[in-house]
Amino acid sequence: MFTEADDKMIREHFDDLLECCAPICRTPEDKKLIVDTFNFANDAHRGVRRKSGIPYILHPIAVAKIVVSEIGLGVKSVAAALLHDVVEDTDYTVEDIETRFGKKIATMVDGLTKIKKASELAGSGSSAQAENFKKMLLTLSDDVRVIIIKLADRLHNMRTLGAMSVDKQMKISSETIYLFAPLAHRLGLYNIKTELENLSLKYSFPEDYKKISDKLAETEASRSEFIDKFNAPIIERLNENGIEFTIKGRVKSIYSIWKKMQRKMVTIDEIYDLFAIRIVFKPIPFVPEKTQCWNIYSIITDLYKPKPDRIRDWVNIPKANGYEALHCTVMGPGGVWAEVQIRSERMDEIAEKGFAAHWKYKERGKGENREGELDKWIKEVQNALNSPTEDAVEFLDEFKLNLYTSEVVVFTPKGETITMPKGSVVLDFAYEIHTNLGNKAIGAKINHKIESLYTPIKNGDQVEIITSETAHPVLASLDHVITAKAKQKIKSFLKKERENNLANGMKLFEDALKERGVTPSARVFHKVLPAYNSTNKDEFYVKLGAGIISLDNLDKVLKENAATKLIKYWSLQVSNTIKFFGGSKSDNQKTIDEQIKVAQCCMPIPGDEIIGFRDDDGGVIVHKKSCDEAIMLASRHGEKIVPIKWSSEKIISFLSVIEVRGIDRMGILRDISNVITGEMNINIRKLQIESHDGIFEGEITLYVKDKKDLEHVMNKVASIKGIESAKRVSDEYKHNVAANGTKQA
Ligand code: MN
Repeated sequence: MFTEADDKMIREHFDDLLECCAPICRTPEDKKLIVDTFNFANDAHRGVRRKSGIPYILHPIAVAKIVVSEIGLGVKSVAAALLHDVVEDTDYTVEDIETRFGKKIATMVDGLTKIKKASELAGSGSSAQAENFKKMLLTLSDDVRVIIIKLADRLHNMRTLGAMSVDKQMKISSETIYLFAPLAHRLGLYNIKTELENLSLKYSFPEDYKKISDKLAETEASRSEFIDKFNAPIIERLNENGIEFTIKGRVKSIYSIWKKMQRKMVTIDEIYDLFAIRIVFKPIPFVPEKTQCWNIYSIITDLYKPKPDRIRDWVNIPKANGYEALHCTVMGPGGVWAEVQIRSERMDEIAEKGFAAHWKYKERGKGENREGELDKWIKEVQNALNSPTEDAVEFLDEFKLNLYTSEVVVFTPKGETITMPKGSVVLDFAYEIHTNLGNKAIGAKINHKIESLYTPIKNGDQVEIITSETAHPVLASLDHVITAKAKQKIKSFLKKERENNLANGMKLFEDALKERGVTPSARVFHKVLPAYNSTNKDEFYVKLGAGIISLDNLDKVLKENAATKLIKYWSLQVSNTIKFFGGSKSDNQKTIDEQIKVAQCCMPIPGDEIIGFRDDDGGVIVHKKSCDEAIMLASRHGEKIVPIKWSSEKIISFLSVIEVRGIDRMGILRDISNVITGEMNINIRKLQIESHDGIFEGEITLYVKDKKDLEHVMNKVASIKGIESAKRVSDEYKHNVAANGTKQA
């Protein structure tokens, strides 16, 4: 039961919320609605507590506060946020809500309930999580506010994630980084996106997170000294010009720093653009904001030299999520590059609050264009969702692809402008215009020059599609197009073909096995699928049925060992809440052999941070924690996560790949193999070297005991005369290979 102290705490939190709502409560009815919905929710959740022990109602109050203070939505959204868990967690129904608070709020609560229900029904082994996300996106078409409230809900759950178990933390963080943060980005909610990313990092990579935040704290003094020195002349000149403004130096987010370190494989000390300067000005009336932005730009570049290729003009052509600003990079004191962002107050509000601010400015009769872009995007999502060919998992992958991309603007032959995601090829453009145009396309004239279907289109290109009546979509195109629309259209065409091929392939394979007296088992597929470059049975059958692969070397494949190497002597730490393989031992730590496999996409070795997933055969597949594939798996199949740790024993060896680069000279190959096999007594499995124009590049596949061992090898190799670098082949590279390799024979 609740104590007096609990009630006092609830009261205080609600009073605080009411205060935040004061600016949006225009009539007494507005305030009454908030008070009434609070009383209703407070009653409904009475006596219930969160995992952390605090009264449950503090969660809806906190979500409502985010909705009003950090996103800037209105009274109805606050009411819906307060009620968001009532229908799912208590005995009240949507009808009860409608009777008391009207249809609009009931519909929003209904949307929020459906999302939650789907998420909790998520059983094992299915794509239930994906279905859940799909449902969530469906609400976009009804009322975007539902998604925004859901984001606020997720944000508060992330802020309080410390109270959850480790595997729950991993599942929720992965979902957040996989879908919620990109979604916040797409809706222009930058602050929320950044916080979601940072929190997700904090729980997925606590050590990295701490290292970066410590470093930022440590360098703060010298950084702010630089910023002051940098800003001083700007402030003086802007004042002289009678411009009203604020200027701030903003540090990049921990997540974006981490991401950059991962991508470029550098340390934090090697990242030079840790911060940006932001100038927000109050526009003077009757002068276009655009003119004022460029005016400030010219004042700054009188003081500091700009980097010509680093001007980003999102004032003329805003990003699809509505973002407007003028960015440039200039050379500051002491030869340090600094990024400067110039925004009007209106642009700043849109950047901070995203979608909600859009509405506000649209109502004032401005920003027609930006609204159009967002509407268009929502319509596209709707179309894709309504397409019957679309499977939830597939949809989500492609949807996600489109969340982060920035755009290029191209012209039709008639001179109309079409906005496409950056990286789009000619075929994407054809499908963007019309399905039939895409299906029949064979090439294009780009700026009157003939180009292929897979040529990337660039900003300002004029594109005219060339068609042929006999043309039809082919599988290979899926590796080139990047828009969800093109992929979906090609797939739905191929689907019919595919069904025939699948049946054919299955029969071919069954016959081939029968001939050899082999029964199709999980073991057989473990060998066959990787050997034929297939990720699952269906893909394998379809390729076989379509004649893309043939079974010529089946005998050899069946004799070989499975592609995922079995390794022994791991110790698994299995949390108490997870039942594991029906094992009979009751101790927390078990040594399990044979059932553990190393994921081929990232090839973790002892010393790497790892995460395990149960597979369909009851085994565990181990990925590096930073592997894209693992993040995707965790976001969809959180129920399969197995907390896992390396044992301290170094008994067997792991396969690893390093990449070397250097200047070619006589005998260098011999030196490499001498160092590795001779001096270090390490077994090389494969050595692949290519030499051109005096440069040589190659990959060495070898067996090592652990990460330290591998680093030792790399240092040794790097010290050989002529060798410029020796690096471990990164996840990203590996993942790309896997992603592109699946569709081709
Ligand atoms: Mn909630």
